[in-house]
Amino acid sequence: IKKIEKAIQQKRTFCSFEYFPPKTPQGVNNLYDRFERMALLGPEFIDVTWNAGGVTSDLTIEICSNAQTVYGLETNMHLTCTNMPVEKIDHALREAKKSGVQNIFALRGDPPRGVKDWTKCENGFAYAIDLIRYIKKNYGDFFGIGVAGYPEVHPDSPSKEDDLRFLKEKVDAGGDFIISQYFYDVDLFLQWVKDCRAIGINCPILPGLLPIQTYDKFINMVRMNGTSVPDYILKDLEPIKEDDQAVKEYGIKLLTEMSKKLIANGIPGIHIYTMNLERSARVILENLGLAQSQEVVKPLPWNRSLKNNRL
Ligand code: FAD
Repeated sequence: IKKIEKAIQQKRTFCSFEYFPPKTPQGVNNLYDRFERMALLGPEFIDVTWNAGGVTSDLTIEICSNAQTVYGLETNMHLTCTNMPVEKIDHALREAKKSGVQNIFALRGDPPRGVKDWTKCENGFAYAIDLIRYIKKNYGDFFGIGVAGYPEVHPDSPSKEDDLRFLKEKVDAGGDFIISQYFYDVDLFLQWVKDCRAIGINCPILPGLLPIQTYDKFINMVRMNGTSVPDYILKDLEPIKEDDQAVKEYGIKLLTEMSKKLIANGIPGIHIYTMNLERSARVILENLGLAQSQEVVKPLPWNRSLKNNRL
């Protein structure tokens, strides 16, 4: 119970990885192969995202179940309120519980693709906190609960103070740990953590780090989310922006340096948004000396036939 919270508090500097459900069966198979290899890096847990439109929801449940039971990975299943009447929420929670998934990342979710404003569905929840309260009321302490936090303030939030207050309410309602939106300004993140502590948010706060893959993708992502990018990063990228490989290597170096500074400032570990890619995450961990050696890792309860049957 609450395994992730305990792991964060007790262990060495930890790492965790986020994945999303692929669109094709081949993609799912590739993801399982990646789980097998990346398990050897010793992540404390992995996350699998939830498609807010509901399209790949069953796949999220299935991937989480396999990650937990086949690959022996402590799994944090994302769950959103978008288009999710309480019956569907219950289905997801029951299935998670059945397969031994003990961690839910409780989110409101974004509007489905093409829809501008978020609206609550009939017999559903308006905010992540309503989902947290529902899980606590109906499942007691079976699930550890993670919640999302925004160092640069969530776009729908009336103000920075309100955003922090809402975050504290989520933690007070049962959130055991926070994972942040991605950022590239470490000072800004560290200040936000101080602001959280100042209003009495005492749970672990994990920094979400997004490796840079290509210049265009990076610029689109930061624009879409209104993420601050320190000038020196843009300057460094300018001369290499057409060279995808050089950009990728720069991203690895940048995230390594960011991680070092975070860890030096007492942050307990790093959460990597892998985008289902392996190399950047692996090299960052190797650079930090956090990649667990293969000998230390227990053999996985690994069973290829189950994996293939499920596809
Ligand atoms: P909430 O905490 O409910 O907040 C939503 C907004 O309402 C905020 O602006 C908040 O300040 C405001 N608010 C909260 N309470 C109140 C109140 N009582 N009155 C008025 N306003 C209030 N999306 C997905 O679809 N799938 C995923 O798997 C996914 N994973 C994510 C993982 C991480 C680490 C992060 C940071 C985000 C993720 N998201 C995901 C995106 C997330 O769903 C969106 O950012 C969404 O818009 C907000 O979700 P939330 O849980 O933070 O919402």
